[in-house]
Amino acid sequence: MPTTFIVLLGPPGVGKGTQASILAERTGLAHVSSGDLFRENIKKNTELGKLVKKILSDGELVPDDLTIAMIRNRLTRPDCEAGAILDGFPRTPAQADALQAMLAEFNGDVEHVPFINAPEDILVTRLSGRRTCRANGHVYHTTYNPPKRAGICDIDNSDLYQREDDQVDTVKRRIQVYMDQTAPLIEYYRRINNLQEIDGAQTIEAVTASLGKSLEN
Ligand code: ADP
Ligand code: ADP
Repeated sequence: MPTTFIVLLGPPGVGKGTQASILAERTGLAHVSSGDLFRENIKKNTELGKLVKKILSDGELVPDDLTIAMIRNRLTRPDCEAGAILDGFPRTPAQADALQAMLAEFNGDVEHVPFINAPEDILVTRLSGRRTCRANGHVYHTTYNPPKRAGICDIDNSDLYQREDDQVDTVKRRIQVYMDQTAPLIEYYRRINNLQEIDGAQTIEAVTASLGKSLEN
């Protein structure tokens, strides 16, 4: 049985992680977030974590070889046997090429590439209000998706913090890095797959509904 991989494309803050979590719950596919994997490595102070800490806090991209090796390792875990929702990977054409090669090896394919987009002012507002759970990375927003108790994760009672790279100066840099290095993937997937554009400026529920429809096709 070939496995199903969904690549969620879109700028920082558009809602990829939020939608990937909802979709993972509904489909049973694994949610693979490259950003979460880097942050776990930083938290555990692994060799990889030490190498990438400053890169993440500066809002730059981790080199392709380190990123590809980490994702390859993650995709060989048993929970990815049926496929995965990829959130934040690939972010460069070289990573996308590496993904094609890996999936050919695992008898899988990139079946859907939803491209969620929204204007820059919305991205900045979302990233500035994002709060992240210290224990497991659950994501909230101070205005649009607040926790039941301020500053506390609904799911595991852990405290919520603001990511260093969600400070406004780094947010601007990350959006620029996305434009320069990741946006070329829109054309890349338009050529080889069925890229489907989704209006990310809608509410979380409306984006989920649009995404659901695009995955039926
Ligand atoms: P990404 O993974 O693309 O960086 P996130 O899913 O982490 O984006 O969302 C960024 C922030 O915006 C979070 O605080 C999240 O709660 C909030 N958010 C996500 N989707 C929406 C939406 N459709 N409307 C309003 N806020 C949203
Ligand atoms: P966002 O919520 O803005 O989409 P992520 O959590 O996906 O952010 O990523 C946080 C940081 O981790 C990025 O700014 C970058 O430094 C690093 N990173 C994540 N994924 C990749 C990738 N595929 N290639 C290179 N660096 C990455």
